[in-house]
Amino acid sequence: MSTKIWLSSPHMGGTEQGFVNEAFETNWIAPLGPNVNGFENDLSLFLGNDTHVAALSSGTAGLHLGLVLLGVKAGDEVICQSMTFSASANPIAYVGAKPVFVDSEEDTWNMSPEMLETAIKARIVAGVTPKAIIPVHLYGMPAKMTEIMAVANKYNIPVLEDAAEALGSSIDGRKCGTFGDIGVLSFNGNKIITTSGGGALVSHNSDLVKETRFLSTQARDEAPHYQHSKIGYNYRISNLCAGVGRGQMEVLPNRIQQRRDNYKKYYDRYNGKAGIHFVTEPTGYFSNRWLSTIMIDTAAAGFSREDMRLALEKDNIESRPLWKPMHMQPIFEQYEFFGNGVSEKLFANGLCLPSGSNLTDADFERIFKVMDEFVK
Ligand SMILES: *Cc1c(COP(=O)(O)O)cnc(C)c1O
Repeated sequence: MSTKIWLSSPHMGGTEQGFVNEAFETNWIAPLGPNVNGFENDLSLFLGNDTHVAALSSGTAGLHLGLVLLGVKAGDEVICQSMTFSASANPIAYVGAKPVFVDSEEDTWNMSPEMLETAIKARIVAGVTPKAIIPVHLYGMPAKMTEIMAVANKYNIPVLEDAAEALGSSIDGRKCGTFGDIGVLSFNGNKIITTSGGGALVSHNSDLVKETRFLSTQARDEAPHYQHSKIGYNYRISNLCAGVGRGQMEVLPNRIQQRRDNYKKYYDRYNGKAGIHFVTEPTGYFSNRWLSTIMIDTAAAGFSREDMRLALEKDNIESRPLWKPMHMQPIFEQYEFFGNGVSEKLFANGLCLPSGSNLTDADFERIFKVMDEFVK
């Protein structure tokens, strides 16, 4: 059997171990230390635009703290993009609130600004104003943030931007994660850069970020003894993981270029073929192309998404259907959903292709050999 080609595997740059060794040599083996501060600095410099960053143990932790900081409480409603990974929506349940799911639009596959406004109006008529909006930048493609922020501002609802997949993506030069009141990043093993596990909360509001550091380290008040006036969390990143992150930040521009090159390879080879559709960047949009994806229209192509996925799997090549929308998930299907059919179609026909920044030319030859059998 040939070696496995993964969808998206970790790709170290080489300097990560130096930062980790330094942590050992100085005995900073704790969820605080120079690497944590250094990693936060690297991230705010990269994001620009006066952003403050708190590094955390995961992106999910960032979304949970984001909702806590926005004051979302039990019984409240939170609007969330339906087409996403469950980690966008689970934190709504952690705070005891109810999700209201909103469908995507065709251009970016992310939250439709029109459906968002429809949902807000309907919920206000029903007597509840949603407490937060969670748009997501799927596979690195920025959501229509200008339009989403306009709707959010019109109804005065804060935005918690799930930028877990979109580090380095931007609209007109402004980085994803810096549009909303709060942005969240992830450094899980499969993301564009990784700390093995980790995340960050991003905001222009430095008080909010200070509060994030406070809450994520058990909310200890200033006192010689342990004194608490708020519920705390153990969500800070380890100084060892942050060391990996500092090394990864040195190669981030490189990783973005490599992922974009992957996309271009698929696009150049298969765009325009019968039944194959790519999602392209609207003017001014820049995607980090975390994952390369295609849509397969079975009738026009003469084969289905599953036909191709299974053929790739047979050759030990990992590919995967797009995210299954939250409104179709057994755990979430009881909740309100404002739909237009887009996310259901994406789930039925979409495929994520191998997208790691460490894919070799030989890997691509193997992938293309299988795909060429279908795409004529
Ligand atoms: C990965 C991911 C998360 C969660 O991040 P973790 O660091 O794995 O907790 C949240 N939202 C989306 C869209 C993701 O892809």
